[in-house]
Amino acid sequence: MPKKMTKYLNQASLWFNRWFGGEQMFILLHFIPLFALYTGVNAIDWLMCAILYLLRMFFITAGYHRYFAHRAFKLNRFWQFIFAFMAETSGQKGVLWWSGHHREHHRLSDTKADPHSLKQHGFWESHIGWIFNPKYKAVPIDKIKDFAKYPEIRFISKHDWIPPWTLGVVSWLIGGWSGLWIGFFLSTVITYHSTFTINSLTHKWGKKRYETGDDSKNHWLLALTTLGEGWHNNHHFYQHSARMGWFWYEIDITYMVLKVLSWLGIVKDLRPVPKQFKYAHRPEKLAALGLQNASVSRVKVKKQPHSFSDLTPA
Ligand SMILES: [Zn+2]
Ligand SMILES: [Zn+2]
Repeated sequence: MPKKMTKYLNQASLWFNRWFGGEQMFILLHFIPLFALYTGVNAIDWLMCAILYLLRMFFITAGYHRYFAHRAFKLNRFWQFIFAFMAETSGQKGVLWWSGHHREHHRLSDTKADPHSLKQHGFWESHIGWIFNPKYKAVPIDKIKDFAKYPEIRFISKHDWIPPWTLGVVSWLIGGWSGLWIGFFLSTVITYHSTFTINSLTHKWGKKRYETGDDSKNHWLLALTTLGEGWHNNHHFYQHSARMGWFWYEIDITYMVLKVLSWLGIVKDLRPVPKQFKYAHRPEKLAALGLQNASVSRVKVKKQPHSFSDLTPA
């Protein structure tokens, strides 16, 4: 890219960050859908709102979370960029920032150093406050070196205003002003809080099947609203699986979509759940399968949270 263009882009990103990156703007954003009281709303706006919620929730969980934070499957460079771009249309900051901090959440889960522990810092701090905490403003680049090595990923992570603003303009072109207020802004606000319940409520609500050393829980309703993320205790027990609902009755819509994308050749090598993890709560089943209890393997995972060579599924 020409030097002059890079300079303008850097200035634009600083400007967007200064004006739109703070708490005040985040709070104001919640009131923007109220402009629909003046413009009126039609069926297309509500349809756009639902589609943009589902689409972005999918890319948050499949992109930011399962791919970039946990490398739960493989993508080529093109699709890797698309997943990063689409995740960032949610306005949840750069992919390196999101995924780097998320790796820290697993490494330090529910300790004082966990960026968003409900137990340690209370509901509001774990739900939203931590995002605006100056301590977590920087991209934890040393935690996400494996993706920071790609220049296009560094680019879209740095200029993270481009994807949401692009989607905002597209929503306006399709639905006009009411499409922007309801289709884009209302779905953005709902997507924010739905995502944030995973940082706050899934460490309080629900059932704990596996001993993970933290407060992570499984909750069916949060799993439905977040397209699978609510199976959070499963996920804390074994982070590297593409699947978060481990049993047939644990609905994980993101995994279903990933499975379809794997048939199309877009997604490859979906990492399965090793049986010694899946059945760790059923000693008789483990014995029948001749497997060791996963808590032993889990010590290994804890020690090397981002090394995947020793996690080959059984
Ligand atoms: Zn968690
Ligand atoms: Zn995770």
